[in-house]
Amino acid sequence: MSLPSTAARPDGLPDRIRHWIGGEFADSVDGAVFDVADPVTNVTYTTAAAGGPADVDRAVAAARAAFPGWSALGNRERATILNRIADAVEAREDRLSAFESFDSGLPITQARGQARRAAENFRYFADVIVALGDESFRVGDKQLNYVVRSPVGVAGLITPWNTPFMLESWKLAPAIASGCTLVLKPAEWTPLSANLWAEIFTEAGVPAGVVNIVHGIGEVAGQALVDHPDVPLLSFTGSTDTGRHIMRCAADGLKTLSMELGGKSPVVVFADADLDAALDSVVFGVFSLNGERCTAGSRVLVERPIYEEFTRRIAERAERVKVGPPSDPATEVGALVHPDHYASVLNYVEIGQGEAKLVAGGTRPDHLPEGNYLQPTVFADVPRDARIFQEEIFGPVVAVAPFDDEAEAIELANATRYGLAGYVWTSDLRRGHRIAHAVDSGMVWINSHNVRDLRTPFGGVKDSGVGREGGAHSIDFFSETKIVHVMLGEVHTPRFGVQEN
Ligand code: NAD
Repeated sequence: MSLPSTAARPDGLPDRIRHWIGGEFADSVDGAVFDVADPVTNVTYTTAAAGGPADVDRAVAAARAAFPGWSALGNRERATILNRIADAVEAREDRLSAFESFDSGLPITQARGQARRAAENFRYFADVIVALGDESFRVGDKQLNYVVRSPVGVAGLITPWNTPFMLESWKLAPAIASGCTLVLKPAEWTPLSANLWAEIFTEAGVPAGVVNIVHGIGEVAGQALVDHPDVPLLSFTGSTDTGRHIMRCAADGLKTLSMELGGKSPVVVFADADLDAALDSVVFGVFSLNGERCTAGSRVLVERPIYEEFTRRIAERAERVKVGPPSDPATEVGALVHPDHYASVLNYVEIGQGEAKLVAGGTRPDHLPEGNYLQPTVFADVPRDARIFQEEIFGPVVAVAPFDDEAEAIELANATRYGLAGYVWTSDLRRGHRIAHAVDSGMVWINSHNVRDLRTPFGGVKDSGVGREGGAHSIDFFSETKIVHVMLGEVHTPRFGVQEN
């Protein structure tokens, strides 16, 4: 069967994607634009405003002007608006997921799931701020200490192209819930869905200037946001190299930072595991979202007695994954986001063939002669020093390797510079917990895949990041605290030689 490789253009595509500053759409001050293409045809379908320092200046000024009013609102009032944002996202689920799928190449069914998760993020943070209690500490019967929480100010949010709308929501929701105003710089390969924020925020009654969006190339628009003296806090999700660069730039201004970076997460499969469930999880974990998932289980470590058979089953399943047009509801893996990224993933496939045994995929599916398509690819017998074992590929490519005992499984799991997620499959729960504790990562799933309650912290260790997002951690990140000490009775007069509390 031959499927069309033409992109199904959703209705309502904008003629031009523009910045959104102070509640108005705006072109760049210098009129600069960049081309935006879809990953099925790689043909430009629109242009987007290419922001520079002058545009970031305008956006930061708008955010500063909106800050006193927004930060003064009560948490309940902000929560009402956050719930209205969630309503507005839900009301646009069809258009949002069609735009996201068209622009990023994500399968439409998975883009829909991401749109729902975006709405949940706003509802969740609405609940968090309503429930947020004041902290106070009574010291003996004489003294009361209490904590005042206030928003940091104008936040800079910088986001990547994988699941762009959902990842934007992940930062937008806690930032505005905390009372910050902000400037968002979306990824330049996928600016389309961010264009919908303007109507969503307007419909929800978010005052002008609370949220500002500046599109543009990372090294120009993103850099201007990083360097802006009136932006004291940066929340970044993206590659480790960019994160490292941003941290260096932010050092002079002593900016508050959150860094959600790359991953090369291990899946450890023991012979006593429910192997059917483990197999489903391995296949979904590395190939869903086109493999462009920071927590992808891209290294599968399998206990020796089941290694041959389990590897054969992964390869067989990889060959059966339905690669196709992102807009087709039957598609399981769509088109990779951009020809440059596609070339990078293909380059790893070539490198891998010199390092390990290719047992599935490795080529474009025959029925898709154009577009950034790759059949899910499996490498077996991958040595630990191989580049395809060590480096984040960020596509539908998995490295499989055997281990002999628990100690070797842990050693291999920890043998990369990354530490974002980990997965372990075993029917021995004590062993599952031992592995979970021993794997260097911010998150581990035992006999489970990537199910995450919004209350739990998300983030990585080593080269996968600094800090945590999610749950109360996000509210803490966007807030400053101040402790106030008050004497309740007689005035405390400090004197030398008297012990203080
Ligand atoms: P990237 O680092 O190339 O770009 C991310 C963002 O940073 C983009 O908006 C880009 O324009 C901007 N940028 C680039 N250079 C900049 C600069 N000098 N100053 C300021 N901003 C700049 O990353 P990407 O390729 O868009 O995203 C893929 C990466 O993101 C992968 O490594 C993936 O693992 C990671 N990621 C991590 C998480 C997580 O939560 N840990 C989630 C999703 C993606």
